[in-house]
Amino acid sequence: MERIGFIGLGIMGRPMARNLLKAGYPLVVYNRSRLAMEELAQEGALMAASPKDVAQQVDVVITCVSDSPDVEAVVLGADGIIEGARSPMLYIDMSTIAPATARTVYHALKAKGVAALDAPVSGGDIGAQQGTLSIMVGGDEPAFQRALPILNVMGENIVYIGEAGAGQVTKACNQIVVSLTIQAVAEALTFAKKSGVDATKVREALLGGFAQSRILEVHGKRMLEGQFQPGFKLNLHRKDMNIVLQTARELSLPLLGSAQVTSLMDALLAQGQGELDNAALITLYDRLSEPPGS
Ligand code: NAP
Repeated sequence: MERIGFIGLGIMGRPMARNLLKAGYPLVVYNRSRLAMEELAQEGALMAASPKDVAQQVDVVITCVSDSPDVEAVVLGADGIIEGARSPMLYIDMSTIAPATARTVYHALKAKGVAALDAPVSGGDIGAQQGTLSIMVGGDEPAFQRALPILNVMGENIVYIGEAGAGQVTKACNQIVVSLTIQAVAEALTFAKKSGVDATKVREALLGGFAQSRILEVHGKRMLEGQFQPGFKLNLHRKDMNIVLQTARELSLPLLGSAQVTSLMDALLAQGQGELDNAALITLYDRLSEPPGS
């Protein structure tokens, strides 16, 4: 079995790494803050001192960190993966980052004879825990074939899309659909409440028809219960929408819905709600539709 290194043990990375351990892979972990690392160490993983240290000990390095600059720091920065990497190591980034950054990392590692895949995920914290993530992969196909048994432990729907960056383009598409669907669900449930109709029953009815979606199921439930523990934090979702809008701008592509829902996210971030789950978008509609002082 290949020895795996996992860097970034947050809401997503921790359960993904845990599933690899449970599947029997020898695992070396690194996290910027120590607590999450110690938790995995108690379950059988080895702790490393830096991303470079991880790369020196394993065959395959996986990262799941926040944003494009974080991937650049972990891979290309001081004590980064690139300093410990050597052929035939394989690098798999499962963070959501800009396609352009994924391509930069791919070329930097290729110059050292190291293959790199961009393999962002969809399915949320629940999918990460259950090992049922959807994984969309860009990079060289032989590297994808090598990664497949490992990705199969973390996900169920694993699709090879094309060359480096194609996985991140796919994830951006995913975030367009997710954000606009969250907005649609927030509007529908607010509409039901303001009409004096039981919004719980509305959701139940809609789940059986054309309006059915995983977002209506999971986020709709969170909205009705007012449960906004993340899940997927608003500030990370806004980060993804920045990737969408920046890439669209480079293509002179107008994305009207994406621009609008990003502005709504901005309003919530301005109100200090960035650490809440993205389902908290409905609270904006609540405030907009209530009389002042209520
Ligand atoms: P999270 O809970 O905030 O975890 C982020 C992780 O990245 C933490 O382990 C953090 O370390 C590490 N990190 C961030 N910046 C770093 C840096 N500069 N150097 C080293 N480590 C760094 O976020 P998450 O929800 O797990 O999301 C991780 C990635 O998956 C993001 O790209 C996100 O967009 C994507 N994603 C998330 C979901 C979801 O539902 N949550 C779904 C699909 C995709 P510390 O612990 O030290 O802060």
